[in-house]
Amino acid sequence: MDSQGFREAANATIDEIITYFDTLATRNVVSAVEPGYLRKLLPSEPPQDGEPWADIQKDIEAKIMPGITHWSHPGFHAFFPCATSYPSILGELYSSALSGACFNWICSPAVTELETVVLDWLAKTLGLPACFLSTGPTRGGGVIQGSASEAVLTAMVAARDKELSEEEREERVMVKRSRMVALATTLTHSSAKKAALILGVRFRAVRVREEDGYALTRERLAEALAECRAQGLEPFFLAATLGTTDVCSVDDFDGISRALAEHAAPPGQPGEVWVHVDAAYAGAALVCPEVQEATKIALISRFHSFDMNMHKWLLVNFDASCFFVRNRDWLVQALSVNQAVYGNKASDGGLVTDYREWQIPLGRRFRSLKIWFVMRSYGVKGLQEYIRRTIKMGEDLAESLRSRSDLFEIVTGPKFALTVFRLAAKSEGAPLEERNALTRALYEKVNATGKIWLTSTELDGRFAIRLMTGVRTTEKEHVDTAVKTLVEIAEEVMKG
Ligand code: PLP
Repeated sequence: MDSQGFREAANATIDEIITYFDTLATRNVVSAVEPGYLRKLLPSEPPQDGEPWADIQKDIEAKIMPGITHWSHPGFHAFFPCATSYPSILGELYSSALSGACFNWICSPAVTELETVVLDWLAKTLGLPACFLSTGPTRGGGVIQGSASEAVLTAMVAARDKELSEEEREERVMVKRSRMVALATTLTHSSAKKAALILGVRFRAVRVREEDGYALTRERLAEALAECRAQGLEPFFLAATLGTTDVCSVDDFDGISRALAEHAAPPGQPGEVWVHVDAAYAGAALVCPEVQEATKIALISRFHSFDMNMHKWLLVNFDASCFFVRNRDWLVQALSVNQAVYGNKASDGGLVTDYREWQIPLGRRFRSLKIWFVMRSYGVKGLQEYIRRTIKMGEDLAESLRSRSDLFEIVTGPKFALTVFRLAAKSEGAPLEERNALTRALYEKVNATGKIWLTSTELDGRFAIRLMTGVRTTEKEHVDTAVKTLVEIAEEVMKG
């Protein structure tokens, strides 16, 4: 493809993408293909001669679209959103044109420097304490990771190896690993457990309860720490959450600090517990000052790291997981492994950031560009407006469900645009199994319409439906459709 060919192909592609978004609501949300559908549609060998773009592009609609589940569909109420927006797509375009493995500053100074600047912008916008800024008092800073799972793994490595020399590190890792415990809760995302598995350390999930709003409290953490100590185990890491996946609960940051002050070593001492705040989804809502206040985000200045995915609820395409640490030296000490081929004057002079030392992979893409484009195109006010609009739709939806208490019972929320609910009891004292079966029937019938997509969870044995209203394209009319569909099918299930 030459320059002129690219110009024509790119124009045709952009046109098709715009039409896709403009007509998205007319499609079903979830792909209905059978496993293996694509192999039947594609030749078993690659073409020997190159094909014209027009032929390739045709196959997007004919062969790929049937197998696409539309995460930007206004009826997508499942999981959490996976964002996209036009400015972000433009960022991806430039990023792929300026392709490079920008692991060191010299590999493209703009890639490193823009990342540092936009992550400082983001930290300020989210109201993070100054210790997480690259210009803050504690040598903090942010780095873009591929996912929240990568971020928690990175934080856990740094916590495990923090302030150890290479020999001590080996001693600790090899000998003490059998006693090291990473703590989380029963509602912490599974990525924390996976990180512990990868690092070969123990993992304990503290049970969170309905009466505590499914949050980790001072008492529960204190009990868990005491239990570990009694068993001769060494808690070294705690994954706290701002917005759990199932119900969007927020752990009690003040309670966590107090429990650690009473039951763990002081900061900087052996036995200190690294606290990582996973705000993968709900962290986006911190763009609103009222959310910063409600979640007491200022209290995380006592913690070690924080991560949020702009690619979930903040209009930036996957992948843009923004990971902040209170002291970047912790990452560099844990992850810096030198190899002669990567040495250069700028790095050796110690004046630049080489982000390869803050992450697991070596190479890295120009991901800050799409963040820069989105923050400049929307402005902080635009981001706030979007988050507030989606939160309000969640509140309106919950209100509609509440007004039909004959059909629905809210289990948690609305919180951060997520409402968790189940079918009301058909009769007083209806057994749990019956309510679960009826709620499941509602859930499956609604999803079978293809018009909206919901996900479910289970809380203390109760099957419940999650409905999220955070997708960029979702408007009031789509939420009204969701309510109407739920009411109609709930009435049918109740009668049946
Ligand atoms: N943490 C929370 C609270 C999540 O909800 C999720 C995914 O939804 C993750 C972590 C994992 O995110 P990622 O896919 O970026 O690893």
